[in-house]
Amino acid sequence: MTDTFAVIIAGVLGAMIGSFLNVCIYRLPREKSVVWPASACPHCGRSLAWFENIPILGYIALGGHCRTCHGAIGIQYPIVEALTALMFGGAAWYFGLGILLVSRLLFGCALIVLFAIDLEHHILPNVITLSGIVAGFIFSFFTEPGWEASLIGIVVGGGVLWAVAEAYYRVRHEDGLGMGDVKMLAMIGAFLGWKLTMMTLALGSVSGSIIGVLLTVTKRGDMKYALPFGTFLAMGAAAAATVGPGLLTWYTALW
Ligand SMILES: [Zn+2]
Repeated sequence: MTDTFAVIIAGVLGAMIGSFLNVCIYRLPREKSVVWPASACPHCGRSLAWFENIPILGYIALGGHCRTCHGAIGIQYPIVEALTALMFGGAAWYFGLGILLVSRLLFGCALIVLFAIDLEHHILPNVITLSGIVAGFIFSFFTEPGWEASLIGIVVGGGVLWAVAEAYYRVRHEDGLGMGDVKMLAMIGAFLGWKLTMMTLALGSVSGSIIGVLLTVTKRGDMKYALPFGTFLAMGAAAAATVGPGLLTWYTALW
């Protein structure tokens, strides 16, 4: 149990990092640098003043519109900042201060960026997934899940989805899953180990299928509408990383 002050500090740090995640979410799919230039209004290109860059409060102060051109600022900006702040505060409280917290927060940031980019652009950038595999494996030498479980997680996570993608392609002669999904599940395996990765795959597939069926039934899309699987994997991984270990204990106790 972390003290309240540390949780608050973590939350404030999270809001600031959420602001950087917004930059990644906007610029990575457009193949722009995430460090330069400074943030600008996407409509008129004016560089933002320091107070406009304050997470969440900047959006509220501006009423969701650019001061110069009055173009709308997407609601996703304060949502990502608030979500990241909650994640940092929640994780600091849940995991306590230590190397596991750093590992889980880095993983969580990668999931938020992949979730948002896959939802809008249907891509999962290598710079996140491949770097994530390396980072997760390095962390596993110092904290959960241990390097053996991490290595198996990378191979099994990537391997299972690769096999599914290959089988789907042979049968349907079209791409059902992208290599981005394969690399993303390998990254999840690196951070969480193979057990929680299988849980992530199950949670992601079930939630994806339910949403897919709902979209078909309500005629908002047909089965061929490619649901961004990475978005569901991100939600599944977030659930597995938090309630997963408890679920595993409960499940093994049943037998
Ligand atoms: Zn503007």
